[in-house]
Amino acid sequence: MSGKITFTMIKPDAVADGHIGAILGKIAEAGFKIKALKLTQLTVADAKKFYEVHAERPFYGELVDFMSSNPIVAAVLEKDNAVEDFRTLIGATNPADAAEGTIRKMFARSIGENAVHGSDSDENALIEASFHFAGKEIF
Ligand code: ATP
Ligand code: MG
Repeated sequence: MSGKITFTMIKPDAVADGHIGAILGKIAEAGFKIKALKLTQLTVADAKKFYEVHAERPFYGELVDFMSSNPIVAAVLEKDNAVEDFRTLIGATNPADAAEGTIRKMFARSIGENAVHGSDSDENALIEASFHFAGKEIF
């Protein structure tokens, strides 16, 4: 059965572009409950570790530099079928391919600077939530 938790980041582009409030509004409107929330900044080491699975990809260096370049908003979200429903809400990785009304279509700059992260599995949602939050910060 699908889990109830996903993890997201509002990425540096969307924070710098002033979209935190609008993106949190879309998330709430879609029925997700906020279980944890903070404005923070990834170190280069944090970003390397978070995106370790992409270490061999040609865009890895660019991705690590971008994700550590400015503050992000990290959040843990709860809803039935959270992982899949959140990925539907954010849209395709490349905003040019994202459906109308999705967060990436509305707010992303490009395939690399694409406004939001969404976990890709229940297992990774839990790993990513505990990477960013202590147990007592998740409500
Ligand atoms: P995320 O994991 O951030 O939610 P995703 O699951 O849609 O995004 P992944 O394939 O996991 O996409 O890629 C992770 C991130 O790496 C993308 O969100 C994007 O920021 C960056 N990325 C992916 N493909 C490219 C590319 N071709 N060029 C530049 N950056 C890319
Ligand atoms: Mg991914």
